[in-house]
Amino acid sequence: MIGDTPVPTPPQETPSAQRALVTPIVTSSTFRFTTVRELAAANAGAERVDEFYGRYGNPTVRAAERMVAELERTESALLFASGMAAIAAVVLASLRPGTRLVANAQVYGGARALFHEFLEPWGVEVVLVPLGDYGALDRACARGAALVYVETPANPLCRIVDLGRVKEIASRAGALLACDATFASPVNQCTSQFGVDFTIQSATKYLGGHSDLLAGTVAGSAQALAPVERLRRRLGAIADPELASRLERSLKTLELRVARQCESALALARFLARHPAVERVHYPGLPDHPDHSLARRQMRAFGGMLSFDVRGGEAAAVRVAESVRRVALAPSLGGVESLLCPPIHTSHAGLTDAELAEVGISRATLRLSVGLEPPEELMADLDQALSRAQS
Ligand code: PLP
Repeated sequence: MIGDTPVPTPPQETPSAQRALVTPIVTSSTFRFTTVRELAAANAGAERVDEFYGRYGNPTVRAAERMVAELERTESALLFASGMAAIAAVVLASLRPGTRLVANAQVYGGARALFHEFLEPWGVEVVLVPLGDYGALDRACARGAALVYVETPANPLCRIVDLGRVKEIASRAGALLACDATFASPVNQCTSQFGVDFTIQSATKYLGGHSDLLAGTVAGSAQALAPVERLRRRLGAIADPELASRLERSLKTLELRVARQCESALALARFLARHPAVERVHYPGLPDHPDHSLARRQMRAFGGMLSFDVRGGEAAAVRVAESVRRVALAPSLGGVESLLCPPIHTSHAGLTDAELAEVGISRATLRLSVGLEPPEELMADLDQALSRAQS
């Protein structure tokens, strides 16, 4: 009969986790206090609290955040439920109606949609400037800017933003600087070294690395992150502890995975550049990439992402995308399995033809995220798909 079942009494003392090699997953959404004074102090404190209420913080989440801060070489980091949640928190915390956001036009399509669909109706002026046009960036910032937002390497053509130059321009305007460094991961680029205030990662990609989680991170100084953390509480956008634990596991192999992915991507880029069915390869590790020398200066390696334009236009690109076998036709990137997708139907689906032309994406462009498979197998697969598309 309902009503007879006792409610089990949880242990009053939590077992010591001190000797566990891996951070324990603390699933508790709330935490016990002995005095009202302590409870009130935890709620009212300006500091982040890990043991008060799960939307404010959590010990397992904090452990993953510490690892991210170490990787990004920043004082602090915040973990979010997705990369878009991280981006949204940074822009909403930094902007107010009547202020101006200056961003590169070449950013992830989801971020661009957020700027136009939500920031503009909210009263923020959004100014997009072409990547690489530092004069236009300077002129836009000189009119006043609260936040400068860039992405490097930029999705999907892997154009590189000169972070030192952008920082100089943003500082002159008194603007904060945010950079989405998802394509680089902390392994290939020390984004914070250039004075970037908010280093953003879609941790769904390289940090997670296995296409089995959604997460986002923002790294920076404790001072810069304070308003972002307050907003995370209000939006309820914190990652949950199980996710934090899976991310912690992945972070331990990040460098190994990314190093191998960079090596394979360079080999594949060279292979594709020689292929008669490929019109153009976009990979910063190739000497003909417009930002090759900048990438050499700014990055440790050129990354595991590349794009290529298939000869024969959109129809041929569709045939290639539908003919790959070892590589999966799928959105997303940064995982151990290689993924291929047409940006016009994924990351940049919302852009008009004119906007696509402006950022240099063709209807025949395919984006390849290189995984951990033997590179010869990936070459053989791409070769058969490209040959099929031409026949
Ligand atoms: N930034 C970049 C460069 C991306 O490619 C993506 C997603 O594809 C995001 C941010 C958004 O991240 P998430 O899908 O984790 O919300």
